[in-house]
Amino acid sequence: MIVVMARGTASEDLEKVRERIESRGLRAQINLGEERAVIGVMGPIPPDFKDEMELMQGVSEVVMVSKPYKLASREFHPDNTIIKVGDAVIGGPDPVIMAGPCSVEDEEQMVSTAKAVKAAGATILRGGAFKPRTSPYSFRGMGEDGLKLLQTAKQETGLPIITEVMSPYDLDLVSRYADVLQVGARNMQNYPVLRRAGRSNTPVLLKRGMSATINELLLAAEYILAEGNEQVILCERGVRSFDTHTRNLLDLTAIPVVKSLSHLPIIADPSHGTGIREKVIPMARAAVAAGADGLMIEVHANPPEARSDGVQSLYPDQFGELMDQIRVIANAIGREVQQPV
Ligand code: PEP
Ligand code: MN
Repeated sequence: MIVVMARGTASEDLEKVRERIESRGLRAQINLGEERAVIGVMGPIPPDFKDEMELMQGVSEVVMVSKPYKLASREFHPDNTIIKVGDAVIGGPDPVIMAGPCSVEDEEQMVSTAKAVKAAGATILRGGAFKPRTSPYSFRGMGEDGLKLLQTAKQETGLPIITEVMSPYDLDLVSRYADVLQVGARNMQNYPVLRRAGRSNTPVLLKRGMSATINELLLAAEYILAEGNEQVILCERGVRSFDTHTRNLLDLTAIPVVKSLSHLPIIADPSHGTGIREKVIPMARAAVAAGADGLMIEVHANPPEARSDGVQSLYPDQFGELMDQIRVIANAIGREVQQPV
């Protein structure tokens, strides 16, 4: 249930409504929107409680939300959620580009790739230190040593860092280095990770699971929001399909669908979405055209030598060309992609 307060409601009236909700053993989550306050009511709603709420001073409307997610819904939070990370503003008017290697490998690789993506206009640096790999025999990341190399690359370039956290036990460690915590596709429904990320103050990028519906993605986001972390960015990274020509099927329809269902920003990852270097470029262009709030692109200074996902990693010069192209596409829909600084 969502309680929409009238414009200019006195704070005492808002407080009384909150107290009444809590007196019934329900949870009240308040969103002080630009125009008016909205209260999300969580828990089993007693009969007649809607009528009771409607009679309270300052209440303008009570909406029963039939969607299973509440805090992630547009009804609860009509304005777009905007998340600031360094100089990047995610969910604002302009798409934000995050780029870097799949895995952190060594200092020279990390720093040279960071400099290259910055020179092309990326504003957030990616790199995995804890890697979820399908085979236990593949390179599974450098762990904390990798986080330290991300820190070095950040010091060299000024770019904020996005990096993956795979376990609730690692969350404090990863948060010491990360400006954005990435929860990967394989962990989209790892509830201990989601709940722990929800208790953190660091923004979270939540990737869509490879067989997750959009409702399941939004419910996973709800876990994080329900713990109090409002800074959630969603990421479409491709879903499993019957066709084997690409690694995944990048579902670009998810972008406008999520935009109407939710206030949370949504970005696209055409690298994992296609798994093929040459296919990353057209799908990155298409994602910007579809209104994505950003892109996550794997770029490696020397892809044939990459320890993971080299076949889908762009060469730095390809990434530079792509950035020039998406600037034109963004302009066509009234948006702007950051120029190199
Ligand atoms: C990654 O970003 O390198 C990654 C493992 O992504 P995903 O969780 O989408 O597979
Ligand atoms: Mn990867």
